[in-house]
Amino acid sequence: MPIKTTKLVTLLLAVSLIFITDGFAGERQTRQYFQKIKNNPSRLRLFLKTFPKGGELHNHIDGAIFSENHIKWAAEDNKCINTESFIVKFAPCDIKNKTVPVSSLFNNDSLYNKTIDAFSVRNYQWGKRSGHDQFFATFEKFAIADFGHFSDMLAAVTFRSEKQNLHYLELMQSMGMPQAWIYAGKQPQFKNNPDTHTLINDKKLKQIMQQTLKSLDKEEALWKQKLHCSSEQPAPGCQVTVRYLAQVIRTFPNDQILAQTILAFMLVQNDPRYVGINFVAPEDAPITLKNYTKQMQIIRDVAKNFPQLQHRISLHAGELVQGLVTNEALAFHIDEAVNIAGAKRIGHGVDIAFEDHAEQILKKMAQQKIAIEINLTSNDIILGIKGKKHPYQLYFQAGVPIVLSTDDEGVLRIDLTHEYQRAVETYHLSYNTLKTFSRNALQYSFLDGKSLFSQYEKNKFNRVCAKSNFKKMSEACKKFLQKNDKARLQWQLEKAFLEFESHYL
Ligand SMILES: [Zn+2]
Repeated sequence: MPIKTTKLVTLLLAVSLIFITDGFAGERQTRQYFQKIKNNPSRLRLFLKTFPKGGELHNHIDGAIFSENHIKWAAEDNKCINTESFIVKFAPCDIKNKTVPVSSLFNNDSLYNKTIDAFSVRNYQWGKRSGHDQFFATFEKFAIADFGHFSDMLAAVTFRSEKQNLHYLELMQSMGMPQAWIYAGKQPQFKNNPDTHTLINDKKLKQIMQQTLKSLDKEEALWKQKLHCSSEQPAPGCQVTVRYLAQVIRTFPNDQILAQTILAFMLVQNDPRYVGINFVAPEDAPITLKNYTKQMQIIRDVAKNFPQLQHRISLHAGELVQGLVTNEALAFHIDEAVNIAGAKRIGHGVDIAFEDHAEQILKKMAQQKIAIEINLTSNDIILGIKGKKHPYQLYFQAGVPIVLSTDDEGVLRIDLTHEYQRAVETYHLSYNTLKTFSRNALQYSFLDGKSLFSQYEKNKFNRVCAKSNFKKMSEACKKFLQKNDKARLQWQLEKAFLEFESHYL
């Protein structure tokens, strides 16, 4: 071997060795530091805020907005608010109907504070409503405040995410859905067991899909402009990768659910920014309870027409608690979401222990890597389930992949760091478990492309990138990362871990 090559090989080996040694030492020291501070809430908050979080997979963008932003945007648009119901309306305001300009709240502390409370769960415990009723009542109140502000919503959510070292957001949003349900409500072809294969070519739904994508182009361009993403000093938020789940509002009759579901799959098929679908709105609403099985069958039947998208279904299921609904309703929702609709992730899953086939479902979720999206604060406030009563341990012990998420961080007035902290304080997570949850949020995301890992549980990189590291990357690995969104973000997260842990060396 020529001398030059030998030297180069030695140098490379030395660099890799330093990298590996630093990596291991960094992780060990960080683990030790974490053990020392995990019972100190302020230190833990500081630690977890900068701890790299792979992604968030259960985040409704409308629920992610804080009351203060709803008020600000509504005031800018000269919108009005009813001083009794706190529902925001379009101008003109009419004092006879008890509507006043939202801008007047800035000179009225009492009304301003009541509005903040009405748009969120702040102080709900002092009112007469349950957390459940307060939570679900907020959305109708601020809906019009956010009208025309999707780019501002994106800016607010991504800004907050980047400041918490969060790399990826899979945001749920309903653009185009109202048009789909209004259209289907007037059309006979969606009623009485229609042939879904014909309906997936429905011209009007295609038109709605195209209009939705156009609006999204416009809103995304504005979002990036607002954060100065192409300038030399981009604001926090520009580095966060955003993808969408098309959310079907489930509290509608079956024909309107069908049209929304078809639109959702069309969006995923036609635009890479849409990576999956979800069903949202209260699972305990009378219409959802009545039609739950039919809703799962609609998903299955529509998905058959989009075979390449069948792994892109995440569903809210089991967001229920004994007493809220009948015992019979507690017995099968997660089961049917997995076994009829083919969900690849479950949101909440709180009532798992009340399901008839709980053990089999847990086993299937663990074996087939159907992840559970756990929302601790949301479950506490909406369902009154927390601590030992929460099935977190059941899922964890069964080996079901877990991701932590906020659900509706604005209405709940929390952030993802808060949920990591809550999990650490309640279930005494180890540093390694925290890292696993963070990695899970990319591994079980619906991001396009292959995983960086050939053996995910063993943290083993796939062959193409096995010999690459953050100081030296092979051309093949570089190309692989360019082609595969999932792997690229996973690489980015591993790098972020290395940087984070180097602070504790
Ligand atoms: Zn949710």
